Amino acid sequence: MRYEVAGNGCWNWLGATDDGYGTIIINGKRIMAHRVSYQLFVGRILGRQSIHHTCHNRDCINPEHLQMLPTNSHAQLHSSNRRKETCKHGHPFDEANTYVGRDKKGRLYRRCRACHAQREREHQRTLRVRKL
Ligand SMILES: [Zn+2]
Ligand SMILES: [Zn+2]
Ligand SMILES: [Zn+2]
Repeated sequence: MRYEVAGNGCWNWLGATDDGYGTIIINGKRIMAHRVSYQLFVGRILGRQSIHHTCHNRDCINPEHLQMLPTNSHAQLHSSNRRKETCKHGHPFDEANTYVGRDKKGRLYRRCRACHAQREREHQRTLRVRKL
């Protein structure tokens, strides 16, 4: 299990990869490295659960960047990524610009970081005007 720790906290897998995912051979079977890491550091992966990278970095094995999700909602998360590649203002929903959170009902949602930063700036500007 060799990996390097990147500046953003990702543990980048240095072994073999398959479709961008780190892989490891255990007892002659090829297993996804991030799933091994999850089971090692976090716990057992239950049936019908997928391990999602909250950092969107497929070869990352940092257990803090891994999240167990039901396979169907995980697939949904990724298919909605494919359907919509930009926010309504045209910013790309790529790794750097996307924040994935959970709403009160536990549903996953994506937020555009650029739009959020813009809204924050406008909010602050309004406050300043009001003070005058
Ligand atoms: Zn990561
Ligand atoms: Zn995922
Ligand atoms: Zn945006």
